[in-house]
Formats: sequence, structure tokens, C-alpha cells
Amino acid sequence: MNTPICQSCGMDMKSTGDLGTNADGTPNQEYCTYCYQNGAFTRDVTMEEMLETNLKFLDHWNSETGNNFTPEEARPMLRNFLSTLTRWQK
Ligand SMILES: [Zn+2]
Repeated sequence: MNTPICQSCGMDMKSTGDLGTNADGTPNQEYCTYCYQNGAFTRDVTMEEMLETNLKFLDHWNSETGNNFTPEEARPMLRNFLSTLTRWQK
């Protein structure tokens, strides 16, 4: 089974509680609860700002995935990854 990922921050959305909500209160399958509430993005950020926010969780991500990336190593990879997500498509 494919876990959907948030098309704004790239977070795994493992349960319904992780999903954002549409304006009518139904779950939004595309964005997570941190990024999208009641049909709108919770924060007006650029991709670079999202990238820096995500890097704050690098230790957590490293321990979950068994990697040991430094922020300098992770930044370009994360930038590549985020640029594939719907929110950051031009
Ligand atoms: Zn998100």
C-alpha cells in the first residue's frame, strides 16, 4: 500500500488524522493537516522556507530512515524532492 505524501511538505500521511481538510470539512487527500486546513494553506511560505522548516526535523527523519545526513547534505536532496510536489509546481 502506498502511503500518500503531503504535496506541500512531503510528510507521510499515515492516517486520516494526518490529512488536511477541505472547506466543507472533508479530508483532503493531497495535503497534510499541518499545511492545509478548511480549504486553505495554513502558512503562506515559499519552497525555500518549507525546506528550512523540514530541515529542523532532519534528526527525526535520519533516525526513521536509518540515514545520517547533515543539513548541508540533505538540503539539495530535499530541494529536489520538494520541487516535485504539486504545491511547488510552476
Ligand atoms: Zn504538509
